[in-house]
Amino acid sequence: MKRLLKQIFLFTTILSLFGCGAAENIAEGKENIENAIIVETMTEVADSEEKAETTATDEENAGTATDDERNKKTAVDDEKNVETVADGERNEETAADVDESAVLAADANGTSKMTTSDVGNPKEDADYGENTGLMADDSERSEGSTFEVHFIDVGQADAALVLCDEKAMLIDGGTAEDSSLIYTYLKDRGIDYLDYIVCTHAHEDHAGGLAGALNYASAGIALCPVTDYDSKDFQNFTTYLEKQELSITVPIAGDSFQLGSASIQILGPINLDAEDINNTSIVLRVIYGTTSFLFTGDAGREEEQDILNAGYELDSTVLKVGHHGSASSTTYPFLREIMPEYAVISVGKDNSYGHPAEETLSRLRDADVKVFRTDMQGDIICSSDGETVLFSVEKNADADTLSGINSNDAGENGTNASLLDEETIISSQEEETIASQQKEEAAPGIDYVLNTNTHKFHYPNCSSVDQMKESNKLFYTGTRDEVIAMGYDPCKRCKP
Ligand SMILES: [Zn+2]
Ligand SMILES: [Zn+2]
Repeated sequence: MKRLLKQIFLFTTILSLFGCGAAENIAEGKENIENAIIVETMTEVADSEEKAETTATDEENAGTATDDERNKKTAVDDEKNVETVADGERNEETAADVDESAVLAADANGTSKMTTSDVGNPKEDADYGENTGLMADDSERSEGSTFEVHFIDVGQADAALVLCDEKAMLIDGGTAEDSSLIYTYLKDRGIDYLDYIVCTHAHEDHAGGLAGALNYASAGIALCPVTDYDSKDFQNFTTYLEKQELSITVPIAGDSFQLGSASIQILGPINLDAEDINNTSIVLRVIYGTTSFLFTGDAGREEEQDILNAGYELDSTVLKVGHHGSASSTTYPFLREIMPEYAVISVGKDNSYGHPAEETLSRLRDADVKVFRTDMQGDIICSSDGETVLFSVEKNADADTLSGINSNDAGENGTNASLLDEETIISSQEEETIASQQKEEAAPGIDYVLNTNTHKFHYPNCSSVDQMKESNKLFYTGTRDEVIAMGYDPCKRCKP
């Protein structure tokens, strides 16, 4: 079913590229769940259908065919990146040949000096680089197995905590100002041992708060695409690692490891030397039963393309949207392969970057993804039983997460939604009047400006038009109905 949706999505994307109608509301048959507090998904059905289709000759098989190439590539990478732990065998090689970080990774496996928690012995817990196989299937999930992802609200930053069978992995820690928040978050839940601490990339909105985590919890393995970076926040992070006698392990795309009965696959970065640090983000996929979760850090278009080229399986139930919903991430080709049912955007209210971008929201809307946002909904917790995912949010369960407005006035109290609706209606009528007055003054002859990328249309004087790429602009003279028939949606700002 998911695969079918994927095809419909591809088809409608092509349709909408050609400006044909009825492109926006795809997959209407897909359940539209109103209640965001408890949302259910039936991935089991989707999966069995998918399995039946695996034999078909299609792009996906092409993806499998590249596995060998990928293995070759990894082998090459292994030689190049002496700093990374490649596989179990390598650890058994002469210690003299193994570099410092490999030794430290092995230390984490082989010593128990950091056992400050009763969660378990790092000797058994913290494995990295061991080829653990790709799937944690049902048989591997013991009775009483649990899985949760906490998307912690750290404003304009990222922090997610993955908990599986008493094991923990922290992916980013927000900014330095979030240090105490992260410290408290772990403390409140008694998580004083992190099997993995992941710094997706060196930017301070990801690395900054990790010191806070390490101030409370000890860690088994630290993953980051760089071992050094010239910033106070990053040095703070490494200082805390050093205090625990830990050094950074640089993961290689293609690596996999276990977190309890969940499997983790490293999909990126593929190009560790990418000019834009965002494109060095560690991208990883967590698989628990038939549910899966894709974490993308701040990966942008280039890294997404690298990952697509590598032919990895990307299909995921939940997507942590790249780069706080920036327009340069979550591109159509990438999204089409992931085909998530849910997405989480970690983003700050009223941030100066305009995140999440209208374009990104529009792509998620086109793909019929249910979106959660930390700026509107606070902490977002997703749990999985291996077949079904459930979401719970701190506030505003039914917030309009796909609206372009990146703040929510109902934000803090969230109780007077009906009152807010009334106000919105009134103000939108006023705006309509103002907008149509402005329209006449602004651009005679041109009725609308169409964005061929987002498939939104605007009055020529809408502020969004100024921000639009020239190449995406299409000036149109004609009626509103014609534009809608072409598959375009009215802008929420100028309301044409
Ligand atoms: Zn960021
Ligand atoms: Zn970044």
